[in-house]
Amino acid sequence: REVVSRNFIEQEIDKDLKEGKYEEVVTRFPPEPNGYLHIGHAKSILLNYGIAKEYGGRFNMRFDDTNPTKEKGEFVDAIKRDVEWLGAKFDGPYFASNYFEKMYEAAVKLIRDGKAYVSDLNAEEMREYRGTLTEPGKDDPNRDRSIEENLDLFERMKNGEFEDGSKVLRAKIDMKSANINMRDPIIYRIAHLHHQNTGDKWCIYPMYDFAHPLEDAFEGITHSICTLEFEDHRPLYNWVVENVGFAHPPRQIEFAKLYLTNVVTGKRYIKKLVEDGVVDGWDDPRLVSIAALRRRGYTPESIQKFVELGGISKANSSTDYAMLEFCIRDDLKTKVSRMYAVVDPVKLVIDNYPEGQVEEFDVPNNPENEELGSRKVTFSRELWIEREDFMEEPPKKYFRLFPGNEVRLMQAYFVKCVGYEKDENGKVTTVHVTYDPESRGGNSPDGRKVKGTIHWVNASDARQVEMRLYENLIDEEKGVYNEDGSMNINPDSLKVVQGYVEPALAEAKAYESFQFVRNGFFVADCKLSRPGQPVFGRVVSLKSSFKL
Ligand code: ATP
Ligand code: MG
Ligand code: MG
Repeated sequence: REVVSRNFIEQEIDKDLKEGKYEEVVTRFPPEPNGYLHIGHAKSILLNYGIAKEYGGRFNMRFDDTNPTKEKGEFVDAIKRDVEWLGAKFDGPYFASNYFEKMYEAAVKLIRDGKAYVSDLNAEEMREYRGTLTEPGKDDPNRDRSIEENLDLFERMKNGEFEDGSKVLRAKIDMKSANINMRDPIIYRIAHLHHQNTGDKWCIYPMYDFAHPLEDAFEGITHSICTLEFEDHRPLYNWVVENVGFAHPPRQIEFAKLYLTNVVTGKRYIKKLVEDGVVDGWDDPRLVSIAALRRRGYTPESIQKFVELGGISKANSSTDYAMLEFCIRDDLKTKVSRMYAVVDPVKLVIDNYPEGQVEEFDVPNNPENEELGSRKVTFSRELWIEREDFMEEPPKKYFRLFPGNEVRLMQAYFVKCVGYEKDENGKVTTVHVTYDPESRGGNSPDGRKVKGTIHWVNASDARQVEMRLYENLIDEEKGVYNEDGSMNINPDSLKVVQGYVEPALAEAKAYESFQFVRNGFFVADCKLSRPGQPVFGRVVSLKSSFKL
């Protein structure tokens, strides 16, 4: 393998392979199907998939569906779709619930080996006996139950003889351990609940800390990569795989979660925004769920790049949202066509251009990528231009249209402002110019220069479309939360406007994106567009303060 700087996870894996601990590398992504995936999950997916690919190993997708209360079938399909869209090729999907039988057997083995026991303590007593960070725990009164009695009780738990919460199965480890997770953790609980996969077959369910290492081990996972909050659970993870007895137990390695500055990523916060109607669903383009990013116009490549730039670390930190924007800008720059579109239109009339005349300009679709070819753009006496490209009284250094000033209409002609009209409210409705027929193509044969170049669309065939301009949902200055704990929502995070675009853009398909010159990258919204009537959402503006 090429020697490049290796992140700490790769260094550990290199070592394991060198020492012969494993012969292959098998990773997994284990989402709980209780919500949509977000940009943080994308990091985990691409990290795990990337490692498997790099070492010629396998990458499993496994739904961690051991908790029947929170899980929903609809999320399974959404998650699968997101992982596929990101380009991570997985084995599976597997379902943790399909291992319930084997998990039960593993628990029985622990009981047989004297390493697990049934406890009658209720939740409150359990807390009391557990101790605290500074105080050791106390042994459970049922800790010394005989193996026979434990086997019998556990079987009867399974058979539904006891009520929820009346008994649990605990691992027999060490009530005095400095690590509270090791103080005889609960590994099975009674819950008479319907499970979306196994139905009413089970009324006992394994706890996460018991189930997860087993799932990994059953699938032959070698490196179980998870986020830092599980570091304290690693001794228990190891205890489970050792004591259940696997020849090549998986190894847990933790890395820091991805946090985005001033962006909500947690499932429960997004759920609240959806429920409160602040956003129009889990895929609202202002969110950073993977579905939202896809709808916003992000590409898998841009997310891949973002994850690579962020790197892998053991220390928690927060990444600037601007870096994500940098990545999509960078990806789309040469990939998509640069089209003419006016976001905030005002009429431009060329007084000396013959009425009824239409001409065509051949415009390259992307000057930085010849492969994208060129297109014909029509031009006539009346055009739409951006309102901000005209000023009655320009400030210094304003080089666009104002009375007496000459500018270039992109690719077309030089035009000089000769007047304007306003409505009764003082709002400019029309700007009048004259054009120089000699400047066709955008240059004057006499060598005369203009300082401003503006874009335009031909009013006679332009199409009016809805455009949606997004800003951060959260007010950057003030942070994510208010003092009272409520979320600090930016009231201007969505601006809906009616703009004009070249007629070709009316055929844009869902997810198709373009650069609207001088305005940013826009995508045909997959939820709101109709055939022949696209709605364009702004992916990202063109400018940024972010530098790599
Ligand atoms: P959340 O609380 O944000 O919903 P989660 O941890 O509950 O996330 P899971 O479905 O359990 O979501 O996560 C599946 C995998 O994704 C886990 O391995 C988890 O460590 C990883 N993951 C979740 N959030 C992030 C993040 N912000 N950065 C990196 N990996 C993450
Ligand atoms: Mg979780
Ligand atoms: Mg969660």
